[in-house]
Parts: sequence; structure tokens; C-alpha cells
Amino acid sequence: MKYIFVSTTLFLLFSCTVTSHKASLFSKGTSIGLDQAGIEKTGPILFQKITVADWIGDRDGLIDIDDPKAVEAGLKKGKEPIQIYFYTITHPKFGTYLVDSGLSQSFRKDPKEWPITGIVASEMNFPHLKVRQTTKEWLNEHPNRIEAVLLTHSHLDHILGISDLPEGTPILAGPQETTHTYFLNAFVQGMTDTLLGDKPKLYELNFPEENKNPSLRILDFFGDKSFLVIHVPGHTSGSLAFLVKSTSGIHLLTGDSSHTNWGWDNNVTPGQYSEDKQKNKESLDFLKKVASQYPGIEVHCGHQSFAGTTKKN
Ligand SMILES: [Zn+2]
Repeated sequence: MKYIFVSTTLFLLFSCTVTSHKASLFSKGTSIGLDQAGIEKTGPILFQKITVADWIGDRDGLIDIDDPKAVEAGLKKGKEPIQIYFYTITHPKFGTYLVDSGLSQSFRKDPKEWPITGIVASEMNFPHLKVRQTTKEWLNEHPNRIEAVLLTHSHLDHILGISDLPEGTPILAGPQETTHTYFLNAFVQGMTDTLLGDKPKLYELNFPEENKNPSLRILDFFGDKSFLVIHVPGHTSGSLAFLVKSTSGIHLLTGDSSHTNWGWDNNVTPGQYSEDKQKNKESLDFLKKVASQYPGIEVHCGHQSFAGTTKKN
């Protein structure tokens, strides 16, 4: 009893939001269900995936190794090769949006000057980060105007490139992403605030029908069903996934609802990195349903693009 009281008190004491920046509500597109999402094989979007860094993660964070399927497969604690990506979504009428932000130019400096420091840096395996291309370097080669950056979620590894974007670029997150409280946020709030910038134009997307009908958790962002934003709570409250109908086919960006290919292939959620595994499982089940509607779909997990590399040790 005493233990429960003390741990509850600690939880309440240290629970805080991921950022102290305030977000406004952003309304765009209309709510639809999966049955209204269409079954096309291609669409008008020009889609690009940019690999910005090679990295490693802790397997018990990336995959729930206590899940019966993981136990059966013999998955144990250890390191897993992962990567960091961002994506570009260019609509012929509505311009270019980014999904996640890549890695800023500051990661070309000495690691001592990186914006992630101390215990958070070592816990997140930052000393193992190998930069391939910064967001600035990519922007120099592709001088498109960026309408906004959409975040799969607000964890540090998804906002590392924001300082390379033109000042005032709108940052769009999912519902309650910036207002939900969680005890681990106490360790990252300061760094999250800094990475988002001085006075970020921060917004939470409005899913107007989802509260009345949870199956209406898809936003038809441009109004032509070419780019669907899907609310997938669990990894974080406002986690988002994206279905892209592109000239190169249909792509599903799962965000960190599934970090790994093994997690996706076996329908097993992330482990310790997810705030609410049960909700994450419901969201992963929904994304599986989305994917099954599009034969030939290319699924992009949060941190892996390469199949068959999950090691047991
Ligand atoms: Zn991540």
C-alpha cells in the first residue's frame, strides 16, 4: 500500500508534458473511415525517403521481447541496427510537406556540441550515431518551399532536424501529443523545447470525428485521398502514421508504432519505448488492416528499412 502511494506520488510529481511550448489546434482535411480510403495502386504524390543516419537501439525498447511470439523466436536483450529517416510528400497542387525532420547541421560538429547530452545521450545510444546526410544538406540540393513538417511523434530522434528548416515552418503533431503527461518526459522536456526552437509554430492536428466514432481516425489531408494521416495512439498519445498514394505506388509510414521489420512482420509492438503497449497493439492491428487493403504496399517502419536483420544476440 505504502509502495503504491509513494510510486503514485512520484509519478504525479515528475509527470509532465513533452514540451512546455504551447500548441494550437490545426484543422485541415476531413475525417474518413478505412472503407472510404480508396483502393488505388498509385496516386499523384511525389514521395521520397531520406536516410539521415545509421544508429543502434536497445532491442527490448524496440520490440516487446516478453510477447509470446518474441519469446518463441528467441529474441533477447541486445542491440539492434536501426536508422533515422525523414520523408518528403510533394503534392502537385499543395506543395511539399516533410514527415519527421531528419538531423540538423549541428550533428556535423564534435559530438560534445550536439544538442543531446548527458545521460539521455548515452541512454539513447547517441555515441553510436553515424550521420549520413543532414536536413540542411538535403535542403541545399532540393530548394523546395516546405509548407510544414508533420511529426510521427515528438520523441527527440524525430525532431533533431527542425533547426535546419526555415524559421517559422509550421510543426504539426497528433492529438494530445504536446499536452499528455508522462513521467519520462521530465528527462527530455528541456531538450525537446530547445530542439523545437525559440517560438515554434506548433500545432496539434484536429481529428474532429474520432471522439464520436473511433473508426474515423483517418484524416484525408489534401481532400483528394492522396495522403491520409492516421491517428495511432500508444507509442505516444498523438502518434501518427501516414498512407501515401504516390507515383511509385502506395506507401505506409508506421512511425514508431512499429520501429522494426520484425515487429511489423510478427505484429508485435515496441517494448519499453512505448508509453501504452495495449493502445499501441490496437493501433498496430489497425495499420495491419490498412496495409491489407493495398496489395503491393510498401511499409516503412519507424527505424528499419532492411528485412531479415533482427539478430538474436
Ligand atoms: Zn524513433
